[in-house]
Amino acid sequence: MTAPRPFNFSAGPAALPEPVLRQVAEEMLDWHGSGMSVMEMSHRGKEFGTILAAAEADLRELLAVPPNYRVLFMQGGGLGENAIVPMNLSRGGKVDVVVTGSWSRKSAGEARRYADVQIAADIGKTGVIPREWALRDDAAYVHVCSNETIDGVEFQELPELTHGVPLVIDASSHLLSRPIDWRRVGLAFGGAQKNIGPAGLTLVFVREDLLGHALSICPSAFNYETVAANQSMFNTPPTFAIYVAGLVFQWVKGLEYAGRRGLAAVEQRNIDKAALLYAALDGSSFYENRVDPSCRSRMNVPFFLKNEALNDTFLAEARAAGLLQLKGHKSVGGMRASIYNAMPLEGVQALVGFLKDFEVRHG
Ligand SMILES: *Cc1c(COP(=O)(O)O)cnc(C)c1O
Repeated sequence: MTAPRPFNFSAGPAALPEPVLRQVAEEMLDWHGSGMSVMEMSHRGKEFGTILAAAEADLRELLAVPPNYRVLFMQGGGLGENAIVPMNLSRGGKVDVVVTGSWSRKSAGEARRYADVQIAADIGKTGVIPREWALRDDAAYVHVCSNETIDGVEFQELPELTHGVPLVIDASSHLLSRPIDWRRVGLAFGGAQKNIGPAGLTLVFVREDLLGHALSICPSAFNYETVAANQSMFNTPPTFAIYVAGLVFQWVKGLEYAGRRGLAAVEQRNIDKAALLYAALDGSSFYENRVDPSCRSRMNVPFFLKNEALNDTFLAEARAAGLLQLKGHKSVGGMRASIYNAMPLEGVQALVGFLKDFEVRHG
């Protein structure tokens, strides 16, 4: 037996479920008797074909993706999608963006290169998602970041948009942590490296009626219609990342928690983990989280020590206690605990125990 691994709170690339890592290690040199590592297989061979088909089927089942949505396995990451989405959906027209933090602000900036972008609402420093949105009836789509990884702000419910303008969600950092209300979403995208697998794979879910309107400058490899028509095989997809993601989907399907199974189990576990951590932060005068409770993220919990002079000591002691990568994003400072699907309840319990212990010793 090997020693238990430390708990890893990285915002991304982030911790993966240990059973998945072990299976990857076991299958590294010889996948299912094929004599090949998945990394060495043709993406057009029958072995990889079964891996991709199973990954897509499991993902569709987990997220209850309706049949009129295509699932695309792409590359380019969330930042790539900031350009790829407007190139495919804007038709060179209007795009409304609701700014709830750093990522949606970045998306607006990139979309400006391709479309007439308007900020429909801005969270500013309020810590509350604004309710009043100045939307244009003739916008091609409305963009929101459904979980702001840096700011720790999450939509607990997606907005119900009038006028039938499609909603685009950047779901990079909470994909597969909860169900998606597809009635309200035209397109969802996310890099895999937060909740799903290794960096290099980007998932796109797009409603079929939104395909076929790409700008002529859009590279063929990033044209959703082309990628969809070729079953994500227009060019070589990130095969190894897709394989690991497929194992993560299997792991989610089999997870049991509080009498639930699969995505429902994962979601309840995420709710309980977040509640435990926020309660510890709110219950102390030593730490603080500045996001309004109505829109606090279940995945990314930024927090501050009121005495910032203790930051380095906090991080060093946390590391020594087996709690890794708690440093906050450089634009925000302080600390951030990312508690994605792969983080067990015990990891959050260990963090909460450490928070209390550190406060007693330094408070
Ligand atoms: C991580 C992240 C991105 C950027 O993803 P890259 O893969 O680095 O391009 C974009 N949006 C959100 C919400 C993210 O969390």
